[in-house]
Amino acid sequence: MSKVYITDTILRDAHQCLIATRMRTEDMLPACERLDRMGYWSLEVWGGATFDACLRFLKEDPWERLRQLREALPNTRLQMLLRGQNLLGYRHYSDDVVRAFVARSAANGIDVFRIFDALNDLRNLRTSIEAVKEADKHAQGTISYTVSPLHTIDQFVRQAEELQAMGCDSIAVKDMAGLLTPLVSADLFAALSEAVDLPLHLHIHATSGQAEMCQLKAIENGCRHIDTAISSFASGASHAPTEAMIAALRNTPYDTGLNLELAQEIGFYFHEVRKKYHQFESEFTGVDTRVQSNQVPGGMISNLINQLREQGALERLNEVFAEIPRVREDLGFPPLVTPSSQIVGTQAVLNVITGKRYKTITNEVKAYLQGRYGRPPGRINPVVQRKAIGDHKPIDVRPADLLPPEMDNLRKQAGELAKSEEDVLSFAMFPEIGGEYLKAREEGNLVPEPLEPIGGAGTPEHAPVEFNATLHGETYHIKVTGSGHRREDIRPFYVTVDGIPEEIMLEILDETEPEVGGTAPARKAAAGSKRPRATRPGQVTTTMPGTVIDVLVEQGQTVKAGDPVLVIEAMKMETEIQATVGGTVGEVYVAKGDTVNPDETLVEIA
Ligand code: MN
Repeated sequence: MSKVYITDTILRDAHQCLIATRMRTEDMLPACERLDRMGYWSLEVWGGATFDACLRFLKEDPWERLRQLREALPNTRLQMLLRGQNLLGYRHYSDDVVRAFVARSAANGIDVFRIFDALNDLRNLRTSIEAVKEADKHAQGTISYTVSPLHTIDQFVRQAEELQAMGCDSIAVKDMAGLLTPLVSADLFAALSEAVDLPLHLHIHATSGQAEMCQLKAIENGCRHIDTAISSFASGASHAPTEAMIAALRNTPYDTGLNLELAQEIGFYFHEVRKKYHQFESEFTGVDTRVQSNQVPGGMISNLINQLREQGALERLNEVFAEIPRVREDLGFPPLVTPSSQIVGTQAVLNVITGKRYKTITNEVKAYLQGRYGRPPGRINPVVQRKAIGDHKPIDVRPADLLPPEMDNLRKQAGELAKSEEDVLSFAMFPEIGGEYLKAREEGNLVPEPLEPIGGAGTPEHAPVEFNATLHGETYHIKVTGSGHRREDIRPFYVTVDGIPEEIMLEILDETEPEVGGTAPARKAAAGSKRPRATRPGQVTTTMPGTVIDVLVEQGQTVKAGDPVLVIEAMKMETEIQATVGGTVGEVYVAKGDTVNPDETLVEIA
């Protein structure tokens, strides 16, 4: 019997990839009775982005969503994606937080924990696997698939053997970027099924157009579990369509036994649901094979575009594409998946826009090079290492071994706002937005972000002529009043910004219509600042726009050149701003939470 089992990702990864994780619980529940009748092996319902989007945008309690789904899906295993010692956050947590998180997730309804580490450092999976086994649930050990000169099939097989020895119940290959090709899938799964006795799962994104082929070859070579998405949320950056795989395998030894007509009904339901979220549709919903040549996964491309747009440097996208593989090599070829994809991607953006590689190094890259995310897969570029951490010797123990228990402290920090252990854990995963969520709930002030009406302003056919744009914390009312004739690569637009007429020149990057939104407020924000322009060495400034998250000096203090004076967050990463000269600190123009732009004086040193 070689029946194939299906995990449907419609309630997690599918809408994460296609509509920025915005599907609300109210649109999931009406489908649950039919989803539960399908007889899937499992439904994936939870992950880091789910938590983030629920707290930040939807103003939903992710734990409450889980409890509602648990009740509505009594006959189906519920599955989550867990980043090992990072849980759902971006840092390493102490073991007591990992145990508490897994225990509460299990108690609220998770049956299957798919556990991975961005660096494939299995030490970072150990505590989660133990905690899942203690809760008597299914621990799925995961291989983060990547391609590099040092990642081989033999090495992935050794990893699977270790995961089996660690007590995992199954093994998943997680190809988040869509890097696998059909014949490599065949070789990989043949080798894995030879080496381990556990059920093998394949999670592959359809980005490069090869998911179904890879799944079939994997199935022919011993894979018995595939991840799919109901067709109205399938393909592109998402997964192979559920209905297509059911049909493809019908009346073969691999028959899934699932009801194709019922799956189609569910597909029609979500087809309608998707329209409601049109404003979040990704620009890239079709096939994108770029990952096969530049190693940049589809999910990262839209992030990079947003980051560059924010920095006013969208035209440098191709330079960033070229820089990403170089940074990845410097860092020892980590697989590109959260959080390593953000760490590599942001450093690559900085290397390009500052004009000098590693002129500015994020705190996350420094921590990575200190071994604080675990053991990098390969050799680190020694020049980059020295620049980032000097003579400091990286740690070689498991990062969490250096962390004291922190649950008590987190309970204190969350304070009165936290009504349950689950609230404390939401706060632990996302201190900023989790804290804001709990505060808004206390004040009876939970308002989900608005949805644009279907067919109204903002649909691709009708670009808005009047809108609000929020940039670095300030909101501008923009009205486009007209446009002029294109002159070579430049086209003038006439707009009013808060009622004041402005002419803006937009450079045309390609033949599609230029974006009106980002440009006008960006200029106004830079021009509207009250801080003096930085013109001499003692006037410390930033190389990129961002938010001040820490001020490390005060007036009258003596500093040496190179001492850190501020910490700025830009593009979700932290960077230190250092004293450009030695001397005494004069005026400090910024406070925690301020938004800052290049060329502004942030701190004076005399
Ligand atoms: Mn995925």
